[in-house]
Amino acid sequence: MKTIGLLGGMSWESTVTYYQYLNRMARERLGGLHSAKCLIWSFDFAEIAAFQAAGDWQKATGAMVAAARRLEQGGADCLVICTNTMHKMAEEVQDAIDIPLLHIADATAPAIREAGCSRPLLLATAYTMEQDFYKGHLERNHGISVKVPGEDDRAEIHRIIYEELCQGEIWADSKQTYLDIVEQEIEAGADGVIFGCTEIGLLVSQDDFSVPAFDTTALHAKAGLDFALGG
Ligand code: GLU
Repeated sequence: MKTIGLLGGMSWESTVTYYQYLNRMARERLGGLHSAKCLIWSFDFAEIAAFQAAGDWQKATGAMVAAARRLEQGGADCLVICTNTMHKMAEEVQDAIDIPLLHIADATAPAIREAGCSRPLLLATAYTMEQDFYKGHLERNHGISVKVPGEDDRAEIHRIIYEELCQGEIWADSKQTYLDIVEQEIEAGADGVIFGCTEIGLLVSQDDFSVPAFDTTALHAKAGLDFALGG
């Protein structure tokens, strides 16, 4: 089994989920006492979130590159960045290391295609919903063009991620807000929903929606384990 390098702590609430998925899947596939070989680098998310809020992506990239190198030097065989947003600097990080970076959008795209969705709704941080690095990656590399919510809804989705989910707060009102936004977007043509932030699966699940849901955390963890087991 190869060792999975997890670049986490963004937030740790979702890194925990990655760790659970990886170990549960390893046990399901290999049985008995098997678990996933992992190295985890866990940031103090307040430091990273401050770079994001200030638009200081250069410092954020420097921190990501340094952490990725530490994981590589520690013996990781691949890199899994446990956040969609911080794939903004995926190319720079990949260029700085020799182990493969398993991109979260590449892990998600096959599921979207298999489900036959052509216009999935992207729920994510404002950075991910508004900038090109994620939507463009899906479009250019996988021919998937996503729909994003309107401006006010994007702001509320983003607020709930940072002020609640990343701080371990799961509220029924916020869940209802997400459900209302998705319902409205389905009426406007969305035929799937991407949990494009690794904490969203803490708030909602496939059972809440009438269209296919794509949980990037689960799909990305599966890609990590597939790599580790050589599949
Ligand atoms: N975990 C989140 C994501 O998947 C948001 C936190 C971050 O900005 O990294 O985008």
